[in-house]
Amino acid sequence: MAPTAAEGAKQQHARKAVGLAARDASGHLAPLTITRRSTGDDDVAIKILYCGICHSDLHSIKNEWQNTMYPIVPGHEIAGVVTEVGKNVIKFKAGDRVGVGCMVNSCQSCDLCNEGFENHCPGIIFTYNSVDHDGTVTYGGYSSNVVVHERFVVRFPDAMPLDQGAPLLCAGITVYSPMKYHGLNAPGKHVGVLGLGGLGHVAVKFAKAFGMKVSVISSSPGKRQEALERLGADAFVVSKNADEMKAATGTMDGIINTVAANIPMAPLMGLLKPNGKMVMVGLPEKPLEIPPFDLIMGNKTLAGSCIGGMKDTQEMIDLAAKHGVTADVEVVGADYVNAAMERLAKADVRYRFVIDIGNSNTLKDSE
Ligand code: NAP
Ligand code: ZN
Ligand code: ZN
Repeated sequence: MAPTAAEGAKQQHARKAVGLAARDASGHLAPLTITRRSTGDDDVAIKILYCGICHSDLHSIKNEWQNTMYPIVPGHEIAGVVTEVGKNVIKFKAGDRVGVGCMVNSCQSCDLCNEGFENHCPGIIFTYNSVDHDGTVTYGGYSSNVVVHERFVVRFPDAMPLDQGAPLLCAGITVYSPMKYHGLNAPGKHVGVLGLGGLGHVAVKFAKAFGMKVSVISSSPGKRQEALERLGADAFVVSKNADEMKAATGTMDGIINTVAANIPMAPLMGLLKPNGKMVMVGLPEKPLEIPPFDLIMGNKTLAGSCIGGMKDTQEMIDLAAKHGVTADVEVVGADYVNAAMERLAKADVRYRFVIDIGNSNTLKDSE
């Protein structure tokens, strides 16, 4: 069908952006010119300066969840500066430092949205690999600019650096939300952080900010010293070390499980105290195997948690700024992104890659 005059005019004003896209399940990322919508009345246009590399980006470019629409431009840990706002926008103005996380739209009218849980709205639109309400496919933050409804834009506190703060938009809220809603944010409680990667290291920092005892449970003995000395964990348990696992048995009030691979669950459930909670945030592609006995003995709870709503995301980044919680980042150029993905697959990053988009010649707007 031919576009109407109004649609034609809108298209003319739509802006171009340069992104890094995977075209197939090899996951190889290469430049692609994409179109962003013109800045609508409720929209904020953002020049992207940094974007974190989340393991979900890696799952997605390789189609590990079997739902990838190619070409895909990943990236949902976006930090940048506002360049233009629509006429109804009251929260932001040009020049503001802002971020965008995993969502860019929702129905904005259901009870869940009204309560601040857009992350559970049946009409949620993810930042990439979703079909937005206008029928366009969303493209993420490995790109030069983005246009987002103001509801889904987060204000960066003055004290929060854009590069070290970008990962909080996904990794930060994804661990903060289950800590808040499962009572794993109380001083004196003992939380286990399973998997010391992008999500895990931020969980350690939040738990320490909450005054908790934190044990890292890791498959990488080489991370022990930095977990204890740099990140401030109280204990480090190597998951393959039977003696260390035995010593930690029955000691934890909860575990935030951030592991991006299928690993045996039974020994990990054993680390919980009676009534303890294992909260899954990691998203390995295969179903979990968990013997019912390991849940039932000791009244254990196995829960899941999906990112967090916009109100909680703003609360999280404000609190992070107050407590000095930032991500430990390795800032890389856009040309390094494929190498970064290979290293991320091997858990070889301390602890989040962040793409320096603002200084990239590849990801540059033409105007
Ligand atoms: P990441 O940086 O790769 O960290 C994952 C950590 O898991 C690794 O550092 C490693 O820690 C451990 N791990 C990886 N492979 C393992 C294996 N084969 N056996 C044992 N441990 C292994 O990933 P991330 O960005 O933190 O994301 C973690 C997971 O959360 C991903 O599946 C991602 O898709 C998911 N996620 C979920 C949500 C949500 O809303 N629920 C949001 C964001 C991300 P050690 O070296 O310490 O063992
Ligand atoms: Zn993510
Ligand atoms: Zn809704």
